Amino acid sequence: LSSAGAVELEGTDGAARAGWVNTARGRFAIPCFMPVGSRGAVRLLSGEDLDRLGVQVVLANTYHLMLRPGAKVVELLGGLRGFTGWEGHFLTDSGGYQVMSLPCSLSEEGVEFRSAYDGSWQRLTPEGALEAQGALGSDIAMVLDVCIALPAPREAVAAAGERTLRWARRSVLAREARGGGEGPGQMLFGIVQGGTEPDLRELYAEQLAAMGFDGFGIGGLSVGEAPAETLNALAAALGPLPAGRPRYLMGVGDPYMLVRAIGLGVDMFDCVLPTRLGRHGTALTSAGKLAVKAARFASDAMPLDPECGCAVCGHYSRGYLRHLFNVGEPTAGRLVSLHNLAWLSSLVGRAREAVLAGRFEKLAEEVAATWLPRRSPAA
Ligand SMILES: [Zn+2]
Repeated sequence: LSSAGAVELEGTDGAARAGWVNTARGRFAIPCFMPVGSRGAVRLLSGEDLDRLGVQVVLANTYHLMLRPGAKVVELLGGLRGFTGWEGHFLTDSGGYQVMSLPCSLSEEGVEFRSAYDGSWQRLTPEGALEAQGALGSDIAMVLDVCIALPAPREAVAAAGERTLRWARRSVLAREARGGGEGPGQMLFGIVQGGTEPDLRELYAEQLAAMGFDGFGIGGLSVGEAPAETLNALAAALGPLPAGRPRYLMGVGDPYMLVRAIGLGVDMFDCVLPTRLGRHGTALTSAGKLAVKAARFASDAMPLDPECGCAVCGHYSRGYLRHLFNVGEPTAGRLVSLHNLAWLSSLVGRAREAVLAGRFEKLAEEVAATWLPRRSPAA
C-alpha cells in the first residue's frame, strides 16, 4: 500500500471517524464535504471564494471536461490545478454516472454515448476513464462503474454489481501496466455498488477491498429509496472496508443523511445540493430550509441564519437577498451559494469536533430533530 490515501485517525466515537487523508502533496481533514465543480469551477464561485470557505477538495466531472475543453487541453494547461489556478485537491469522477443517465449503449467493453455538446459518438471504458483522469491530473481518480436507477430487480442490481467488479479489476490491471497511478501520486478509488441489497453490498465491498484500492466510493445510494434502506445498504458496504483507507459516500449532501453516514464511518461526501439550492434561492439554516424569495422576507432585516458565522450572514439581510432574486441579479445566487457551502462546511466541522470530543450522538440527534426527512402522505 502506498502512503497516499492512508487515513490517519485522530479520534473515533462509535463508528464515526475524525482525522486526515494523506495525499501525494499534502493532506485534508475528514470528515470532508466536497463541493461540485462540474466544468472546472464551482458555479458562480472563484478559487479565492473556495479558499475563504476553507474548501479542501473539489469534485470535477470527467464527462464534462473530456468533452470540453478535452482532457488533453487540461493536461497541456497544467492539469486541473494549473488549468483552474486553484491549489486545493481535486477528485474526479469517472464520467460513468453522467453518461449512464443519458441515452447510451452499455456492453462488457464499456459504454458508448453521444456527446451532449455536438452529438458525436464517444466511448468510455474502464481504461479510458483512468487515462482521461490521468490527463486531468486529479489527486483522486474513481474507477468506471455501472450505475443503475433504483428501484431495480435484484438480478439487475447483481448484474451491474458484478460488471462493476470486473471493471474494477481491469482498472487495477491498467494502473499496474502503467507502473502505478496515472499521474504522479494519483490515488485510485474503487466503487461499491449493490443497490439496496445489503448482502450484495457486503460481498462487493469484500471483493473490492481485496483489490488494494487507495480508497472506496459507495455509489448508487440516496437516489429516491427510503432513508432506512440507504443506511442499511451503506452499513453493509462499510463493514468489510479497511479502516486505514478513506470511505466516500457519492452524491450525498443533505444534512440528515450526511451526519448519519458520518456516524456509520463515512469520511467524504460530494453533492450539488448546497450550490444548486443556493442558485435557486433556498438557504440551509439551523432551522431547516429557508426559501428566501418568499414575499414574507421582503422587509426582513435578519441574516439568512442568525446562528451562522459566514460572511454573507455577517453582511446581508434576507430582505436584500430576496430583492436580488426578485430582480434577477446573479449576485443573489452567488451569495446564497456561499452561505450554503459555509453552513454545510460548518456542520461537517461540528461533526468532526463532536467525534473528537466523544459527543457525536448528541450532535446527530440535534441534526435529526431539524432535518429528518418527513414521510410524504403518499409514502
Ligand atoms: Zn451564513
